Amino acid sequence: MKRVINFNAGPSTLPLSVLEKAQRELVDFRGHGLSIMEASHRSKLYEDVHNGAIEKMRNLYTIPDDYAVLFLQGGASMQFAMVPMNLYRGGVIEYANTGAWSKKAIKEAQIQKCQVQIVAESSESNFDHIPDAHFSDTCDYAHITSNNTIYGTQYKCFPETKAPLVVDASSDIFSYPVEWSKIDLMYAGAQKNAGPSGVTIVIVKKSLIENVSEDVPTMLRYKTHADANSLYNTPPTFGIYMLSLMMEWLEERGGIEAVAQYNEEKAALLYDAIDNSDGFYTGHARRQDRSLMNVTFNIRNKDAELEAKLVAFCEERDMIGLKGHRSVGGLRASIYNAMTIEGVQKLVTAMEDFRKAHS
Ligand SMILES: *Cc1c(COP(=O)(O)O)cnc(C)c1O
Repeated sequence: MKRVINFNAGPSTLPLSVLEKAQRELVDFRGHGLSIMEASHRSKLYEDVHNGAIEKMRNLYTIPDDYAVLFLQGGASMQFAMVPMNLYRGGVIEYANTGAWSKKAIKEAQIQKCQVQIVAESSESNFDHIPDAHFSDTCDYAHITSNNTIYGTQYKCFPETKAPLVVDASSDIFSYPVEWSKIDLMYAGAQKNAGPSGVTIVIVKKSLIENVSEDVPTMLRYKTHADANSLYNTPPTFGIYMLSLMMEWLEERGGIEAVAQYNEEKAALLYDAIDNSDGFYTGHARRQDRSLMNVTFNIRNKDAELEAKLVAFCEERDMIGLKGHRSVGGLRASIYNAMTIEGVQKLVTAMEDFRKAHS
């Protein structure tokens, strides 16, 4: 069997033990003689998987009882539209614009003719930092992108506001413990840090989704899914099963605090390699805002030819997915929960070997 070291931004690497467990159970799920993919979403067999995923998530991520955990479809991109549909009250929505994903979220609110205020943005320096955002306490809600997958920046502390805070956590959900007292709605496509594509996780304070305009279609109301325990219609059952295996894996790893510690160690290895390269490598993000999930960097003077050579050099050593997003160029190493420290160490070694050969 061949397994490469996969630094793709999403879909991204999954733990081998999770894949192997899914493989073992694929054809005959726990002795029931069918695949979980073939099980009715109304069967006890599936419901146990579904409720188990929610329960494990609640325990691991310490989600309070007054928050609903929803499994939806349509990706984080659907949430860009669904959040204003459900939470806009005719006032103002305030956004921090920290990159491409924030911009897409803003656009969907504008399409719905919501009044939008951008209270902070970092576009003038190609989103290399998290700008200070002063959200008002009176807006309908404030929206941030906790980790900017493309640029490699991440909030280390969420902004204070009395307004509901909505967080797009697509690329850092489950990577560190969060303070729920500060967050009212969190959403994430699963395919970066939580499982395969196809499931979208929404964690939302129940009181926020009670009163929704009559105009919102049934499937686009959070309340529909909250009332039906995400079983209003057929949910993405296999993806939710994979998510439940990911939660078990997180438990085995010692929980989210332990994983957060591990993530810090992994990121430090890479950032040290960049910082100790005598200027051969340059990080894109400002130090204080550096992401622990997506490490973005260039080679001196943004030498595109050398950067492409490094990508190829790493591929020869079975490391893939390192080409940076076109809006930043250079390289991006996505080192989500499932990336091992050995994988990161291998990348650091390759970067050092490459630097010696080209200095
Ligand atoms: C990938 C990503 C998205 C888009 O997710 P989809 O599930 O593909 O719609 C949105 N926000 C952030 C921060 C992302 O990283």
